[in-house]
Formats: sequence, structure tokens, C-alpha cells
Amino acid sequence: MNNLHKGTLIRTVGGFGDVLLDDGGEFRCALRGKLKQKEYRLLVGDRVEVSGVSSGEGVIENILPRGNRMWRPTVSNVDQLLAVISATNPDPGWLLLNSQLIQAERFHIAPLICVNKIDLLEEDNYHSIKENLELFPYRVLYTTAIQGKGIDDLRENLQDKTTVLAGPSGAGKSTLLNAVQPGLQLKTGEVSRKGGRGKHTTRRVELFVLHSGGLVVDTPGFNKLKLMFEIDELKDADLMLKEWFPEFKEFDYMCKFNSCLHDSEPGCAVREAVEDGKLSKMRYRHYLKFLEEIRLEQEKRMK
Ligand code: ZN
Repeated sequence: MNNLHKGTLIRTVGGFGDVLLDDGGEFRCALRGKLKQKEYRLLVGDRVEVSGVSSGEGVIENILPRGNRMWRPTVSNVDQLLAVISATNPDPGWLLLNSQLIQAERFHIAPLICVNKIDLLEEDNYHSIKENLELFPYRVLYTTAIQGKGIDDLRENLQDKTTVLAGPSGAGKSTLLNAVQPGLQLKTGEVSRKGGRGKHTTRRVELFVLHSGGLVVDTPGFNKLKLMFEIDELKDADLMLKEWFPEFKEFDYMCKFNSCLHDSEPGCAVREAVEDGKLSKMRYRHYLKFLEEIRLEQEKRMK
């Protein structure tokens, strides 16, 4: 099998896959027989090898090993989460933001926070948001999509990466992406089909190609407050949760108990760091809320 070209699957259309080739250009490809079987199911974001590029009849031959995969919707090989919050109107949804950040950690996706609409803020409020975010262990960008402030910086951060976009409605996600690339219609398409039992609506996942380099995908799944776990994941979710707050690591080893969940255990160094203002009080409060949620879910589903 000579002349295999590598690329990324950006959408599926019927029984075909559109592949963005590493050496440039989009190519509609058929699927090699084995890839139609369930266990080989292709995912948007998959790195693939394609034959037949020179003859114009592309065929996806192989799927390369996946770096990660997230679900709802299912996308593979995601590098980065761009969590957009609005500085004001609506006010930043901190709890939703933290739930998105831990979900990113869970899928091994690097988070990037973008505070949009900073032009609408009073000076004092701007400082309090900034102060709040200083204790987050992540990079933060400040933008005003309408005036184009911070957009070059954002574009640079999206370059050559596959980015998942998250943020509540009203945060200005689409205005932001339109500032990055005018005309980009970033929408997870809803495909309606009439079937035997009436109308079915399925979400189509699609990676959008930025001219400046990089791929973006919108994911309604990241905008849920509630954490969702498969049953085998749920079992250890309370222990995993603290790993998803990377700033705890600096203190974690000083806790009296190895298995400390930083709740009400004696000698908890994380709780002490929160009291000393070294860790974000708000992030810690949300941590406890998620921990409680996980424990309730474990009780409910694991009996
Ligand atoms: Zn502790």
C-alpha cells in the first residue's frame, strides 16, 4: 500500500468521510470495508491514513492511535478546551466554568479561559474578576469580540490545535469566533430526519477549519453543570476529582492522610492553603460541591 497520506477526519457525510490532509486540502473519502464495522467506528478528530489521493478517489485505510476521546459529542484527539465566559451581562458563571475545567482535565484536554465583553465592565469589577482568576491554574485571555481586542492573541492560541469551544449562551462565543475568522458559522448542525417513529434529531459533529491554522468544534455537552459518569468511572470518581484540580497537588502531599479527600479530614493541607488564601476559596467550594454530587451518585447507582 504505497502513497498513503495522513490527515484528520473533520466530518462524516453519509458513508463518506471528509479528511483534511496534512499536506493541504479537503478530500472526500470512502471507507475501507473493515472501518464500517462497529469496533472500528471512525470518530471526528481521528487521525487517518488515506490512499488514492493522486487518482482522486480517496479511501480511508487506517485509523491512527487516538490521543484522547471525549463524549457528548464524541470527538477524538482534542488538544484544548476554550472556556468562554462573559465578564458581565450575563455575569460569569463560575460554577459552570469550573465544571467545564474539570471535564477537560478528565479527558486530558488542556484548558484555556477566555473572558469576553471586558469593555462592558466597570474598572472595579474588572479587577475582581482578574483577582479571582489569578488563583486558577490556567492561562486566561481577555477579549472584546466586538472591538477586536485580544483577538490576535486568541487566534494565535488556536493555531495548529484542535480546540473544543464551551461557554453558556450569551458569553459571545459565535461573535468571538467570527472575529477570529469572519464568516465562520460555528454551529453543531442539527440534522432532522423523518423516520418510522416520527422526527429524529441527531447532532452532527464537525470540526471547523481555521485559515490561520487549527480546528474548532462546538460542544453543547460541555455546557452541562452536572458531571456525568459511566458506572465504572463513577467508582473512583471521588478519588479522581482531586486530580482534576491540579493546583491542589502542591499541597496534597502534606495532608496527614494519603487518601485525604480534602473535606473534613484532620490535618488537611489543602484546606489550610485555602484558609491562607493560597488556593481559591471559590474553586475549593465548588470542589466540595462536586465531591458531594459524586458521593450521592455513588450511593444511588452503586448499591
Ligand atoms: Zn487534604
